[in-house]
Amino acid sequence: MYSKELRDELSYLANSDLYRKLKIVESDQSAKISIDGKDYISLCSNNYLGFANHPAIKDASIEAIKEFGNSAAASRLISGNMALHEQLEKITAEFKGTEDALVFNCGYMANIGVIPALTDERDAIFSDELNHASIVDGCKLSRAKVFIYNHCNSEHLKSLLSQAPGYRRRIIITDSVFSMDGDIAPIPDIIKVAGEFDAIVIVDDAHATGVLGSMGSGSFEYFGITDKNHIQMGTYSKALGSFGAYISGSKEVKDYLINKARSFIYTTALPPSIIAASIAAINLLNEDRGILERLNENTRLFREGLRGLGFNTLNSATPIIPILIGTVEDTVSFSERLFEGGIFAVPIRPPTVPEGKCRIRTTITAVHSKSEIELCLKAFEKVGKGLKII
Ligand code: PMP
Repeated sequence: MYSKELRDELSYLANSDLYRKLKIVESDQSAKISIDGKDYISLCSNNYLGFANHPAIKDASIEAIKEFGNSAAASRLISGNMALHEQLEKITAEFKGTEDALVFNCGYMANIGVIPALTDERDAIFSDELNHASIVDGCKLSRAKVFIYNHCNSEHLKSLLSQAPGYRRRIIITDSVFSMDGDIAPIPDIIKVAGEFDAIVIVDDAHATGVLGSMGSGSFEYFGITDKNHIQMGTYSKALGSFGAYISGSKEVKDYLINKARSFIYTTALPPSIIAASIAAINLLNEDRGILERLNENTRLFREGLRGLGFNTLNSATPIIPILIGTVEDTVSFSERLFEGGIFAVPIRPPTVPEGKCRIRTTITAVHSKSEIELCLKAFEKVGKGLKII
């Protein structure tokens, strides 16, 4: 019976500390959250700018519901394309400095829609080994030949490209900020290699949007890349505190995706409240760059504090700061002890990260106070010594 097979698989996961359980958050998402009636400092949301419960963004959502209702009630190509969707695409393109932009319902759907829309069995995809699961799944759906290059290694990428002639289209795809490592892809080098092989570049700016660059518009701004022929994907759900995703690039790519991306075509459009929140978030960021400075300062404080204590934070250069622990058992135990001390930071285990590279993934936000950061550092020091990690 299949139910016995499911039970066996679940008990295997439980016995190897790989069983995943949902925790219930009873508060809004902020620097502090409430679980089981107790307050915890949250070190694991992607709410980098604290926009998830920002009053101006909440008001924008409420007003949109009052004026336009709860639902878009159909897909974009039927009757769900409301003026708000068009407005969000316009201000997203302005924010990104690209010719145009197209909204998808979430980042996962953008990646599993865009990659197969652009590629089939005649094509080759070159993908960083640590790319997000949604890129991996997009590659699987595409039926293209997939080459995996070593993490952030443009030399390896180049050698794979030189050994793979004869494809109709060659696409290089990379996260800009890697979600479990917090490091930044060498995008200028990747674009240079792409130029040598006439390849298209797709960059996933999910964790760079609202984080990198002095305007917070993402990795291209951070690196000063002005060639806007490449395709950028990003999300409204992390730093921008809303939900959904965008593809930004040329108008031609937008038109093509409207016609070909199945995860755009066959789904109900995002509701007015969400779209209005995304618009408000971009406006807010455009008005207050100081919030990016607070994010950078908090990130620096926490990362330098952890490194000073002797923790291995890998090559983190962003508010995603992993603390490498190693085994599943030690990592789970580390997270549990932090939790007992009032800090919520989840253990990241296989298959999300490779065997032996388990870690605590922390994220810092602009709304953590200095005293909360100091408290976290003290807790990490105590737990690290107890587990002989430092
Ligand atoms: N790409 C990356 C790099 C991500 O980290 C995520 C979300 N964890 C996604 C895509 C998917 O975005 P969404 O949550 O909007 O589906």
